[in-house]
Amino acid sequence: MAGSPARPRPPVEPFKIKVVEAIPSPSREERELALERAGYNLFNLRSEEVRIDLLTDSGTAAMSDRQWAGLMLGDESYAGSRNFTRFEATVKRLTGFPHVLPTHQGRAAENLLFSNTCRPGSIVPNNMHFDTTQAHVRHAGATPMNVAIREAYDTSSEHPFKGNVDLGRLAELLEKEGPETVPLVMVTLTNNTGGGQPVSLENLTEVARLASSFEIPLYLDMCRWAENAYFIRAREPGHGAKSITAIGRAMFDLAEGATMSAKKDGLVNIGGFVATRNSRLADRLRESLILFEGFPTYGGLARRDLEAMAIGLEEGADLAYLEYRVGQVRYLSELLANAGVPFLRPPGGHGIYLDARRFLPHLRAEELPGQALVVELYREGGVRTVEVGEIMFAGTAGTPEGVEPLELVRLAIPRRVYTSSHIEYVADTVAAVFARAASVRGMRMVERPERLPHFTARFAPIGSAPTPPAVAP
Ligand SMILES: *Cc1c(COP(=O)(O)O)cnc(C)c1O
Repeated sequence: MAGSPARPRPPVEPFKIKVVEAIPSPSREERELALERAGYNLFNLRSEEVRIDLLTDSGTAAMSDRQWAGLMLGDESYAGSRNFTRFEATVKRLTGFPHVLPTHQGRAAENLLFSNTCRPGSIVPNNMHFDTTQAHVRHAGATPMNVAIREAYDTSSEHPFKGNVDLGRLAELLEKEGPETVPLVMVTLTNNTGGGQPVSLENLTEVARLASSFEIPLYLDMCRWAENAYFIRAREPGHGAKSITAIGRAMFDLAEGATMSAKKDGLVNIGGFVATRNSRLADRLRESLILFEGFPTYGGLARRDLEAMAIGLEEGADLAYLEYRVGQVRYLSELLANAGVPFLRPPGGHGIYLDARRFLPHLRAEELPGQALVVELYREGGVRTVEVGEIMFAGTAGTPEGVEPLELVRLAIPRRVYTSSHIEYVADTVAAVFARAASVRGMRMVERPERLPHFTARFAPIGSAPTPPAVAP
């Protein structure tokens, strides 16, 4: 064995399987037809056309027996449901934020927060805006500004906290604009757009200190707070003996509030919330909540969903679960590294992000290497992934000078859904495309919607006639 690399080993799942769901196995011919029908946008595929679905880790988790049992405890009272009481107590205990408003998902929380804090001309800094966050900042008339450290843009840097904020750039921005223009500073835990990379507690502490010196509140996008806390525990000196909830609390103590899509670390298929310490803001959020989502004790959800969310938030902070969760992503990274595949280092918390530029170096930026790779992974093995690059972030929130924006393909791993052999199948599929990468053709966009274009755009392979739009049945 001496000299040969250690064989990657998958983590042992800390659960056994009680219910199974068959997965489809479309033929090569069916996949080709599906691609044409979908306008080469994998958001347009039907799920029965997909073998392994790594489009997103959002709302795709497998719920536990306890969560399913919790659904049966649904008290569907319009006001004052006991499920809300439990949900509210759980969020308060985890975060310490006294005002908790449930929403149907993360972007609804973003809408409430930004529409009540921003005005036309405002600027919102964030390590890196997620797509819906950026769209909601803009929807409120404000300008999103990305202020992640430079290492975040270097896919081969092994920096342990590539989600960190560039404190110099943030200070410069706050000095120039002040609290009149910057209503809040936001930090995304983990940095989804930049590869699921964590933010260190040290960096977050400095951001909070800086923001408070300008009397600007700090808000967290806490979708993947537990994965972020796991990385702090594993990588940041002095935190190795702490619990995930203690580290979580140390992060939340620095902020005035947070938005969360519980479809991520909340281990539910739908749900989210916005929480704050600011009572005056909470009153305004509550009014908007009633206008757009529902009464404050359900916020656009069935009450049983609140019960599942309360249980899921706790299960998502379990250390054995997180070791498996992050371990499964690491396992995929090790298999891909053995095949020589270029991806964003180090592996993130919720997925692997292939470096499309290095994967397909023969394609120019306008040939959309990310989308070309997404299409090819589906064509090869029925694996559905998503482009995180030129298309998702067209006209984006600003990269530091002299730095090329990222062009990635995200393989997001749903929580508790796929086994180690599924992960191996994915690695084999990626390796097969990598082996014939030079033959992969570029793509062009033939229909470009104005907002959030990646969801509905249509594409065509370069050198072919555009597919006509799908006719409604
Ligand atoms: C998913 C996500 C959101 C939006 O949440 P939805 O539930 O999809 O509306 C916001 N920020 C980040 C970082 C996310 O990953």
